[in-house]
Amino acid sequence: MEERIYLSAPHMGGQEINFIQRAFDENWIAPLGPNVNGMEQDLVAYSKVSHAAALSSGTAAIHLALIILGIKKDDIVLASSFTFSATVNPIAYQGAIPVLVDSEEETWNMDPELLELAIKDYIEKGKKPKAVVFVHLYGMPGKIEEVAAICKKYEIPLVEDAAEALGASVNGKMAGSFGDFGVFSFNGNKIITTSGGGALMSENKTWIEKARYLATQARDPAPYYQHSEIGYNYRMSNISAGIGRGQMQVLNQWIDKRRANYSFYKEKLEHHGFTFLEEGKGTFSNRWLTCVLLNEQFSFDNETMRQKLEQSNIETRPLWKPMHLQPVFKDCKAYVNGVSEKLFKQGLCLPSGSSLSDRQKESVVEKIIKII
Ligand SMILES: *Cc1c(COP(=O)(O)O)cnc(C)c1O
Repeated sequence: MEERIYLSAPHMGGQEINFIQRAFDENWIAPLGPNVNGMEQDLVAYSKVSHAAALSSGTAAIHLALIILGIKKDDIVLASSFTFSATVNPIAYQGAIPVLVDSEEETWNMDPELLELAIKDYIEKGKKPKAVVFVHLYGMPGKIEEVAAICKKYEIPLVEDAAEALGASVNGKMAGSFGDFGVFSFNGNKIITTSGGGALMSENKTWIEKARYLATQARDPAPYYQHSEIGYNYRMSNISAGIGRGQMQVLNQWIDKRRANYSFYKEKLEHHGFTFLEEGKGTFSNRWLTCVLLNEQFSFDNETMRQKLEQSNIETRPLWKPMHLQPVFKDCKAYVNGVSEKLFKQGLCLPSGSSLSDRQKESVVEKIIKII
């Protein structure tokens, strides 16, 4: 059997272990400590968003954002339909009602026109949406300037799920810095990892302090354990943050490598009937995953291709199945235009890790060409 080529394997830079060693030396084995504070400072410096709370996951970050925005039972929250379920689940945690909005073709992210239509509809029904959760998928920034303008016009808070888009930007401004809140994830297969973790970003200092308080069981400032609110155990551990600090040092290098993966695949496969997602003017993708759309003229579909590559021990993955097609969200109202359904039907994510060797990439391309 050939060695396995993974979709997106963790890739350590080398310094991570030194930050962990320091945590051991100082016995900071807890969900607080110098690495947690350091990770927050690194994220602020990198994203140019003023405040950060390092958390146990990106999902926790979205959940805290919604809590702090006051999202409650039966509130309407608009969210991208073409995404990973973690974008939408926290809306349900609050007992609120997710309303799903389809994508536009240029960036595959939420269609601003459809968003405005949904907002107007719900305002007409007397149920003004309480928040928008917008996603930048696969590292490609969506039409966030347009979406931020719409949210401002209707005075609806914007949560920017940049879990897959750390380091991506629009006109020089980082993904995650446009919304009232920005969210990053450091799960195992994201562009950098802390094994598991996330962060909540905001210009609003009070909100981020509130997030840290809620993430540590909402403890009142008293000598004993007193609580006036429901809390959560959502803080990042000092060990995970140590990995994160090492990963922040190599983030830009890993982005270069992922972008090189994209260029490699594009050059080799573009003329074989595959379509690639290109950057628009002013947008910079971190190319977390390189995704291709299969030509409709092919005699096989994306699932057949995935299975054939799997036989050669190459891991690929279908694009996200839109939330409005998910059994768990089947009763949610959705504003659809066919774009995400088409992407789901024709797309495939190729091995995209920053540690892929040239030989591995050659091998993926050779197998794909052989299959077609
Ligand atoms: C990974 C991911 C999340 C959740 O992050 P976790 O750290 O895994 O909880 C949220 N949204 C999107 C789009 C993601 O890809």
